[in-house]
Amino acid sequence: MGLTPGNPPRILIVGGGHVGMYTALRLQSRLAAGEASVTVVDPQPQMTYQPFLPEAAAGSIEPRHVVVPLRRLLRRCHIVGGRVIGVEHAHRFATIENYAGNVERLGYDVLVMAPGSIARTLPIPGLAEHGIAFKTIGEAIYLRNHVLSRLEAADNTTDVPLRRKLLSFVVIGGGYAGIEVLGELEDMARYACRYHETIEPKDMRWVLVEATGRIMPEVSPRMGRYTAKRLMGRGIEIFLNTRVTTMENGHVVLDNGTEFDADTIIWTAGVRPNPVLQQTDLPLDDRKRLRCTASLQVVGCPEVFSAGDCAAVPDLTSEDPNATCSPSAQHAVRQAKVLADNVVAHLRGAPLGHYRHRYAGSVASLGLHRGVAEIYGIRLRGMVAWFMHRTYHLSRMPTFNRKVRIVADWTTALLFRREVVALGQINDPKADFIRANAAS
Ligand SMILES: Cc1cc2nc3c(=O)[nH]c(=O)nc-3n(C[C@H](O)[C@H](O)[C@H](O)COP(=O)(O)OP(=O)(O)OC[C@H]3O[C@@H](n4cnc5c(N)ncnc54)[C@H](O)[C@@H]3O)c2cc1C
Repeated sequence: MGLTPGNPPRILIVGGGHVGMYTALRLQSRLAAGEASVTVVDPQPQMTYQPFLPEAAAGSIEPRHVVVPLRRLLRRCHIVGGRVIGVEHAHRFATIENYAGNVERLGYDVLVMAPGSIARTLPIPGLAEHGIAFKTIGEAIYLRNHVLSRLEAADNTTDVPLRRKLLSFVVIGGGYAGIEVLGELEDMARYACRYHETIEPKDMRWVLVEATGRIMPEVSPRMGRYTAKRLMGRGIEIFLNTRVTTMENGHVVLDNGTEFDADTIIWTAGVRPNPVLQQTDLPLDDRKRLRCTASLQVVGCPEVFSAGDCAAVPDLTSEDPNATCSPSAQHAVRQAKVLADNVVAHLRGAPLGHYRHRYAGSVASLGLHRGVAEIYGIRLRGMVAWFMHRTYHLSRMPTFNRKVRIVADWTTALLFRREVVALGQINDPKADFIRANAAS
């Protein structure tokens, strides 16, 4: 492996999300003292459990409780706060831009690439200015305050077109992320209406736009149709086989001729592998993912491992020899376990194992007490599915500490009324101070 005699091998993990954090956690428990050093680089000092983001946005869970602080959990790892901007595997180093803005090089003997994915955007006029993605804890916090403050603003205006715009909410993309954020936010806003004298749920307009002919491709078409029916029963408009052509100045135009103003436009139209992969000398497939073997090694580079949203990992359970695992937490967490074990085996010169997992299905929440689930072909709906969603994700949530805090959040919400205060100020915290300075 080209190691320096006497120095323990250096394992560098790029990204501390589902794959990176779980890999580091397992490595720190499996490696003997001094057997290897483990460094994790991530621009965020925490791992975000993304499947709970919709509940965090709806206020059912305190946002801090869906993230896990890396420094606290990975006590035997070295945490570097920064963004990897390139990898030169030929010379075994990664280039990092750290928190302070300095650029430095980090050498390694074994590399784990786990920077995940980013939102897949399209060149739609106005998207960058008026759209918001839904992948980070910051976006979840922003959206909660933004949606509630739209109700607040609408309650305080008699300008009819403005009020209509403030009360129009659009989600673009009908995968589980889009459906869950739509279901949870609509449910929260519907509840919040009772505190606004001039707003009734029917005054709000919630719209889902999906480019393909169905929603929730993660479940069967029948379950997708059921989900659509439930959402439409709540007054949500669903446009299938429809694309947004522009959203300049918040004016949304669909290719079926529909147009309207909206002040909240949420973009959940899929993900693409992190573009940092293109700043490496590692092999990529046609979708710009790292080409991996079933042992989670990058093809042709036995000391580079990868998994999760950024990796093309063969799906050994499929009959199609070219099939790869879908981007999901379900795969990412399981792959991390195999990946960490294979890194240890690689260091010890032992045989490596293969990753094999049959996709179990999906569970999704559509708001409080409402959900859909399809697990190994068994379909569940309503309260049972919602309960399943909560128990499944709670079991997957890292650390006992976070599990307890989340259960406490749910219990508090059961005992007291739902919390719907709009902390819109969070989205512009300096406004008052700027006014104070201007007035002096
Ligand atoms: C709203 C939402 C709901 C979801 N619900 C489900 C669900 O119900 N079930 C399911 O199976 N999946 C779900 N997913 C998908 C799932 O969360 C992802 O597939 C999973 O997080 C992928 O894990 P990962 O480790 O590849 O990436 P991530 O967990 O995203 O981790 C990537 C990490 O890399 C870091 N990073 C990024 N760029 C760099 C860089 N240049 N240098 C260093 N670090 C970097 C990031 O900060 C991040 O910490 C959901 C996703 C979203 C957004």
